[in-house]
Amino acid sequence: MGIENVKTIVAVLSGKGGVGKSSVSVQLAQGFAADGLTVGILDLDICAPSIPRMLGQEGESLHESEEGLVPVMLSDGLSLVSVGFLAEAEEAIIWRGPKKKAIVAQLINDVVWGALDVLVIDTPPGTSDEHIGLVSTLKELGRRNIVRAVLVTTPQMASLQDVTREINFCKKTELPMCGIVENMSGFVCPHCSECTNIFNKGNAGMLAKKYETKVLGTIPIDPNFGSTLDNGKNFMKAFRDSATASSIKSIITEI
Ligand code: ADP
Repeated sequence: MGIENVKTIVAVLSGKGGVGKSSVSVQLAQGFAADGLTVGILDLDICAPSIPRMLGQEGESLHESEEGLVPVMLSDGLSLVSVGFLAEAEEAIIWRGPKKKAIVAQLINDVVWGALDVLVIDTPPGTSDEHIGLVSTLKELGRRNIVRAVLVTTPQMASLQDVTREINFCKKTELPMCGIVENMSGFVCPHCSECTNIFNKGNAGMLAKKYETKVLGTIPIDPNFGSTLDNGKNFMKAFRDSATASSIKSIITEI
């Protein structure tokens, strides 16, 4: 039970909502699984768990076996646990800090995660009780060293400023950083294939340089993004072309 046989964890963070953090989490997990890794997804967005909807698993619940809570199997080598699968999730909006931290610990310790190459954890935007609960649970288990934080941002300055707070959170809590993903970075016209930089493309690079981390990938706006996620079968071409999953994979396989 728990994460004792989990080799690595990728914690996906963002300063703001709506920058594509959950989408990147799902695409990453699907990318790793397509590469032959055994992958789990843990959706820790307590107040707005969106991954079940993205993967067509709304209304699922977690079954209890003798060993613990059993993840929902999406395919061979890809499993999902969402806080939205818990019976009490409807109450989540009024949960306070200690309750949130207890739920985070439960979804790590009481789930039969089994042997995983990587557990992708989607966290809520910002740095809140869920993040603190996650870091303290992993610290108690002596497993903070297997985690790498992936920070998702869009190229606008407002989002980048919020990412700076996430970087500071990682530094303060000694959560090792993998790097930054710049999502919605330009729009590739489906007709002429020309890329228009709707927002300032490339700002993540400046931030990465300043904080001595790296840009893991830049993903353009893809009009098919929603529908690709909805059918849940393939991960998006623009995401695959960005090589984000493979650059993260090469970092975590060294852990
Ligand atoms: P967050 O988890 O940061 O709140 P989501 O992953 O839920 O953000 O994404 C917000 C919306 O933006 C979703 O409708 C998603 O389909 C869309 N989206 C995310 N990334 C892209 C992209 N690269 N191109 C087009 N749409 C995107």
